[in-house]
Amino acid sequence: MRDGFRIGVDLGGSKIEAALLDRAGIVQDRRRVATPAGDYDATVAAIARLVDAIEREHGVRAAVGVGIPGTIVARTGLVKNANSTWLIGRPLARDVIAALDREVRFANDANCFALSEAIDGAAAGCASVFGVILGTGVGGGIVIDGRIMTGANAISGEWGHNPLPWPQGDEVPGPLCYCGRAGCIETFLSGPGLAADHRRHFGNALSGPEIVAAAEAGDGGAQASLSRYAERLARALASVINILDPEAIVLGGGLSAIAALYDEVPRLWRRFVFSDEVATRLLPPVHGDSSGVRGAAWLWPPETKA
Ligand SMILES: [Zn+2]
Repeated sequence: MRDGFRIGVDLGGSKIEAALLDRAGIVQDRRRVATPAGDYDATVAAIARLVDAIEREHGVRAAVGVGIPGTIVARTGLVKNANSTWLIGRPLARDVIAALDREVRFANDANCFALSEAIDGAAAGCASVFGVILGTGVGGGIVIDGRIMTGANAISGEWGHNPLPWPQGDEVPGPLCYCGRAGCIETFLSGPGLAADHRRHFGNALSGPEIVAAAEAGDGGAQASLSRYAERLARALASVINILDPEAIVLGGGLSAIAALYDEVPRLWRRFVFSDEVATRLLPPVHGDSSGVRGAAWLWPPETKA
């Protein structure tokens, strides 16, 4: 066994990815396979095979962390809140630990993103970090002093199903959400939420990325939709700042690529944050698509002996 190696596994709905990190956080190997969707036993076996293949290739026995789309309930050890529904109610931690014959750490994938950016990404050196996923859904994770704050219900940072704060006329009651409520932050700030908002105002069905491209090409309607998006994001993040007061907020997910957000949103959130000065920084991600595997690997923090 060579000291300090970590393998991070990112279990996604369409792919399982694994990366070997050395002590310095340099990725030494990276592999991915298609997720055997719908087949729980095959999913566990695929994780074990990826880890085994990397360890054989490099002659190491690594500390392993796994990021999952959902959470593992501490009391029962069973998966909940996963959009990969074949994992729900399954003892994933127990089975992966048995397959790999070692202790394995697990965390929600949004928490892994936040951890990756907090340890050696955009927010490196920040004591308190809120990592935000703006993609198909809206999620988030909180990292304090380099550790994920999991929370009593394992839902820390899950702001996407809070209502959009300081709502304006046509935002009430807001779009219906799959969670059964209306006006959730996710219904405005996810990619599909942005697309639906644009359609409501202008009638044309563009996807989130198409709206961004149209705005860059000078389309006034698309620019207006992105302005509404930035203002809503500012309100939603201001309510997070008022509670958590993080040093940094790092955006991830597809919509984090909208460059204008990083100037506009901090300018707009001043109206809503309960402070005359706002020191919180809004940052683009450093690790992008690698954050899932990197954050899972850093479930074994740099100072621990792997
Ligand atoms: Zn909701």
